Amino acid sequence: MANSAIKRILSGVLVMGLVLGNVVPIEPAYAQREAADKIVVAHRGASGYLPEHTLPAVAMAYAMGADFMEQDVVMTRDDKLIVWHDLTLDRNTDVRHQFPGRARADGRHYVVDFDLAELRLLRVTEGYRLSDSGVEEQIYPQRFPLWQGSFQVHTFAEQLEMVQGMNRASGQDIGIYPEIKSPAFHHANGKDISTAIISELKRFGYTSKDSNVYLQTFEFDELKRVHDDVLPALGVELKLVQLMGDDEVYQWMLSASGMRELAQYADGVGPEKGMIISPESTRDGLIISSLVSDAHQAGMQVHPYTFRLDPGHIPAYADDFEHMLALFFFEANVDGLFTDFPDRAVDFLREHD
Ligand code: CA
Repeated sequence: MANSAIKRILSGVLVMGLVLGNVVPIEPAYAQREAADKIVVAHRGASGYLPEHTLPAVAMAYAMGADFMEQDVVMTRDDKLIVWHDLTLDRNTDVRHQFPGRARADGRHYVVDFDLAELRLLRVTEGYRLSDSGVEEQIYPQRFPLWQGSFQVHTFAEQLEMVQGMNRASGQDIGIYPEIKSPAFHHANGKDISTAIISELKRFGYTSKDSNVYLQTFEFDELKRVHDDVLPALGVELKLVQLMGDDEVYQWMLSASGMRELAQYADGVGPEKGMIISPESTRDGLIISSLVSDAHQAGMQVHPYTFRLDPGHIPAYADDFEHMLALFFFEANVDGLFTDFPDRAVDFLREHD
């Protein structure tokens, strides 16, 4: 596909889009950036192929050649850190069967209400939701089937041991990309999750901006607190990434001056991908925002999320998954991206190196 797709894209380069009424120029310096310099982040492991945030999904992503393994990190009642996406357990486990009566008023079972020893009893599976009639409906029906195999909750430390163990065995230096999940929620439940995560990173030798780690969060107040207080208190420096969605709270960041302000605290940004290439784009009219160039000019990396090839997840302006990658890597000029299918993004970058 690659060559024809690339030619098609290149022929469209001069038809660039509009954001806020301004034509966004192509930046030749960045446009020439080598594919080899761009990174692939395995989003929750190779989560397109195995249940997210399980150790097998990490091993698979590692073997696929991803540059970074992502860990969402949540804290338990007994102050242990686990790799888990949601604050709750309902989407990916059998918690309602094993621990009846432990849900909060909203009917959900929260990680922070369980001890690690209890969480280790849970059976982990692909994501599902319950229909109104109580039927389990798999969220990505064509992915790994529900309740097959044997998967468990694991700790942040156990995943770091695994990545570092594979690094040693393979002679590579694959990075990690942990996310501080909902720090305000954790604070409200009496837990300083950021200090716990950074202490653990320090224990595993991640102590400087040269360490192969990006630490991400959606909450700017916490990012600032981490930068100003937590990192200095622990005597370490780490690369920080501000995640952002298409939401009012991030609006102030979305300008050249906003990005300069943000760059006082962050080394990179992780926007929802529609904030870079508008979903309203068409094949003949790509609408690229100034987000990437503003972030680059402020000295920050840009790693958008989340690239999926499941039905319904390829935008109408792209022919297929690889075409979407080409547009983001080489037209929008992102520095890396989060994907559930790291093999496809790794292969794509190797083909275009
Ligand atoms: Ca995440």
